[in-house]
Amino acid sequence: MQVAQVIVDVPARQTNNPFSYSIPDNLSNQIEPGMRVQVPFGNRKITGFVVGISDNSNFDGKLKPISDLIDLYPVINPELLNLADWLADQTYSFKISCLQTMLPGGMRTKNKKKLIAKNQDVIEQHPTIFHGQNEIEYDRGNFDNKTLAQILNLQKAGEIQVEYDLTNHARPIMLRAYKGVLNSEQIDEALKSVRKNAVGQIKLLNILKGQPTDNLLLSKWESMGVTASTLKSAEKKGWVTATSKRHIRNPFLRPVDPSKPFNLHPDQKNAVDSINQAISTKKDQVFLLEGVTGSGKTEVYLQSIAHALEMGRSALMLVPEITLTPQIVGRIRSRFGDQVAMLHSAMSNGERYDEWQRINTGKAKVVVGVRSAVFAPLKNIGLIIMDEEHDSSYKQADNPRYQTRDVAKWRAAYNHCPVVLGSATPSLESRARAMKGVYTLLSLPHRINRHALPHVSIIDMKTEMTKHQSVMSNKLADAIQVRLDKHEQIILLLNRRGYSSFLMCRDCGYVPRCPNCDISLTMHKDTHTLNCHYCGHTEPIPRVCPQCHSKRIRGYGTGSQQLEEQVRNMFPTARVLRMDVDTTRKKGSHEAIIDKFGAHKADILLGTQMIAKGLDFPEVTLVGVLNADSALQFPDFRSSERTFELLTQVSGRSGRADKTGEVIIQTFNPDHYAIKLAQTQDYEKFYATEMRVRHEGKYPPYYYTVKLTGNSPNENQTASEMFGIMNFLKKNLSSEAIILGPTPKTITRINNHYYYQIIIKYRREPKLKPTLDDILIHSQKKQRQGLQIAIDNEPLDFM
Ligand code: ADP
Ligand code: ZN
Ligand code: ZN
Repeated sequence: MQVAQVIVDVPARQTNNPFSYSIPDNLSNQIEPGMRVQVPFGNRKITGFVVGISDNSNFDGKLKPISDLIDLYPVINPELLNLADWLADQTYSFKISCLQTMLPGGMRTKNKKKLIAKNQDVIEQHPTIFHGQNEIEYDRGNFDNKTLAQILNLQKAGEIQVEYDLTNHARPIMLRAYKGVLNSEQIDEALKSVRKNAVGQIKLLNILKGQPTDNLLLSKWESMGVTASTLKSAEKKGWVTATSKRHIRNPFLRPVDPSKPFNLHPDQKNAVDSINQAISTKKDQVFLLEGVTGSGKTEVYLQSIAHALEMGRSALMLVPEITLTPQIVGRIRSRFGDQVAMLHSAMSNGERYDEWQRINTGKAKVVVGVRSAVFAPLKNIGLIIMDEEHDSSYKQADNPRYQTRDVAKWRAAYNHCPVVLGSATPSLESRARAMKGVYTLLSLPHRINRHALPHVSIIDMKTEMTKHQSVMSNKLADAIQVRLDKHEQIILLLNRRGYSSFLMCRDCGYVPRCPNCDISLTMHKDTHTLNCHYCGHTEPIPRVCPQCHSKRIRGYGTGSQQLEEQVRNMFPTARVLRMDVDTTRKKGSHEAIIDKFGAHKADILLGTQMIAKGLDFPEVTLVGVLNADSALQFPDFRSSERTFELLTQVSGRSGRADKTGEVIIQTFNPDHYAIKLAQTQDYEKFYATEMRVRHEGKYPPYYYTVKLTGNSPNENQTASEMFGIMNFLKKNLSSEAIILGPTPKTITRINNHYYYQIIIKYRREPKLKPTLDDILIHSQKKQRQGLQIAIDNEPLDFM
């Protein structure tokens, strides 16, 4: 008897270890690790992943059998099964959530499946499966184990295709094709036998005479005047045979022209040589490719990917959420064509599923995608690239709270291939590792076009505010006007982190707050509502102050909507585009805005962080940053790093082509080192300064960090549990570990739950892992009382 080890879909500590189930005899040797099954669990049936199979007679036969097969082929390959174990351990999360995370969105839930026969022979040879139909719905209830075993064998032999029927908009699109099977005499005979008024059939037979063996898509037949019903009856008469071909949705909206590799500049060549050497020798070396915007990093990526492909291997390129622009995907596709698959969150479930399939079956060899693409089922990876490696979207905020960089390094070690981390402003962690020789530093110190970096000036808004009340300084306003007169383009950035517009009564100071959270509501003019960004609560904008009944209740703060209004008022003839979460919610709208601006159909593009990165517009000669320092006020040790990164990135947007650019940064902290050093784009000096600050504050990269967050509907309970945890930590960890808290989080109440946190800073703490595991197990027991504990290893957010 075979036994399957199954990780069941019950997120609890004890289910992190697989449960054993027997495999029914007639399915033995059919079930493989990586398939999902249904198993009895208590008095329910639940889903699980098979993670191992053993031939085992040790069991005394009391095992419950697997009750159903959900997948007919493994959806998690052996590498990813291994990775899930490591990931669960690393991130203090459940194996089941790690496994679920690896699947594309639409496949995580239970789907219907379809079995599609490859051809007529398959249908005829297996009447008990297909009953003469070309495709059937797979419902486990319909088949006994013997038939199921047959189905699995056919699947393996490629005789049938299994399709996941994702929700309506995401189901695979099947195209029907027909081809003639008659020879010319048979056609002539058939022509004689049909009625004179059977025009369709006559037409069909005449076409068959001309091209007897071509398999033509239904749409093609229809264009020649033959209807689907004519073809169906022809199929019954045995004149034609039918096949179904899966139509792959094309997430790349536009075709691209092929491009050729450039002759590399010496620094680029040096970088490509080193990376390619590691690819050739199968070394899991990590490179840090440091270079300002426009220094030719992307070309280095492309030529290294080309080398991996030449070696018969695949390549994975990761980009941050908001920089996955058509521009970068276009460049990669222009080099590697249809071998490229794309994975990102703006795609529909169906598109993602199609791309995932192309990767899983080995058709796509180059994957470009955001964070979750690090789990792409590529085989034989020869190179992993992480562009903008410092970007915060690489860290997942929810379970499993992984850092993409760590997963990338794990996969590189597994596949024996290098990782390239690219950035103009590497994270301090990565740069420090490069200094210690853990990573290999490669640098591209010059811009390809040798253009000087744009001139950056800093405006002190404290003095500016004494002159007028506008959010825009006179200097910036003048500079905009100059560009408008010259028909050049302008980008205006609003640093939105923690900066949104809220409503306030000018008479009594009343600010509407969320009833469920400790936060003021954000004003949304387009929907005329006040929204809570934490719990989703919305309410209409009041006309009079609920507290003093004054009518003078108005918006405060500078949201991008308000900025847009102001800019339109100041420059009535300028064409203005706004890009932020609200204008890019609809699919394709992000691209539409970029296209429009790129085609110079607008003069000013204004928006949030979203516009800061990855975009390359030659006509932009002025970039204005309205509030450089709004992030600096946050009680977070990374705020200087983020501010420096953002300003450096956005400055790189100006003057990329032959016109010199100018950048104007408005700030209330003109003397802050992050702002001053961004002015000169001096990463080296910023690195040195910030490392000193980190050293003094005992922060990463000198110290490792862990964040524990507890929440429950009762504040006293949350606080006392967290104090208990703090004491437990103190008892178990060495005296060198620094334990901060518990403290209420900056926003203590969210959705009527109270949040407290503890931060641990440490250098070497062998007992930390088992201690945290203990805390998790203990917290499982408390969960029934509504208490939830989350552990975040190396958190990016300390608020
Ligand atoms: P980065 O990724 O560092 O911002 P890119 O790779 O986009 O830089 O390069 C900037 C510009 O220079 C692009 O337009 C690119 O096509 C061009 N470029 C890159 N490498 C070369 C080269 N070796 N010769 C000529 N042009 C190049
Ligand atoms: Zn009031
Ligand atoms: Zn709320």
